[in-house]
Amino acid sequence: MNDALDDETPPVISGTLRKPKTQQITGEIVFLGTGTSVGVPALGCDCAVCTGGHPRDQRTRCALVLGLPEGNLLIDTPPDLRTQLLREGVGIVHAVAYTHSHADHLFGLDDLRLFPFYLGHPVPLFCEESVERRIRHSYNYAFFESPVTHPGARPQLETRLIDAHTPFQVLGATVTPLRLHHGSTQVLGFRIGDFAYCTDTNEIPDESLRRLEGVHTFVIDALRRHPHPTHFSLDEAIAISRQVGARRTLLTHVSHDLGYADLQRELPPGVELAYDGLRLPLTGHIGKMWMDDPASPQAPSP
Ligand SMILES: [Zn+2]
Ligand SMILES: [Zn+2]
Ligand SMILES: [Zn+2]
Repeated sequence: MNDALDDETPPVISGTLRKPKTQQITGEIVFLGTGTSVGVPALGCDCAVCTGGHPRDQRTRCALVLGLPEGNLLIDTPPDLRTQLLREGVGIVHAVAYTHSHADHLFGLDDLRLFPFYLGHPVPLFCEESVERRIRHSYNYAFFESPVTHPGARPQLETRLIDAHTPFQVLGATVTPLRLHHGSTQVLGFRIGDFAYCTDTNEIPDESLRRLEGVHTFVIDALRRHPHPTHFSLDEAIAISRQVGARRTLLTHVSHDLGYADLQRELPPGVELAYDGLRLPLTGHIGKMWMDDPASPQAPSP
């Protein structure tokens, strides 16, 4: 049982919900984390990247938050979630979509516990059935039917099943799932407007490549220089970004093998390392809205 709120007053005054302290991020994408599963610096490592102190080599576990027309959609709940949201001034999450259930993408879920106080309802979690099973197993206390001892004692969650082939609506936006292969694990990428996020993959099936046509900003897994059985290497990530033909490619899920300062100099035009705290505009058709791409002279007016 979770008792972290035992000594605290939930943010409710006389039955009235207090407004969360938060930055308005509508129309923005905020990178919360861009590191591999153990983070960068890696514990106990004395390599030049881990000890160099470059601000863009401080990589927490992968997640991002999208400022959609009706609220903030979080992609994954990594173990660093609380500190990531505090760092970026994002005080509320209205819904979560999961790529997969590996520990580095899931095990910050309990940090969602405050948001139902602000929302007035459980946090919707959009996920595949395999992810729902892992959530119900690992966070079984959130689903106990016995009464809680005090408000906030358990996370209030509501799972909404999605599949790899069917776009879904959330917070005023249409999200297109993209089936990705991550070794033998099946995971999801997501496309929203002109933006696509494909972490934790070493193979993108043809069906998903077709759904990536016309993407302007493409975020892709690039773990390290050498091949890996479940992640794209740097060269593989660059090759798939050429195939997709995105205007801008951002590499994520990066390990200490790829130091920011050195690597930026050798990447081809249009390919960059993402970093924690990076913010981008959300562009293209977002549900019923058109959001302009400032980099595109052809973008029609709203
Ligand atoms: Zn991962
Ligand atoms: Zn290192
Ligand atoms: Zn993974």
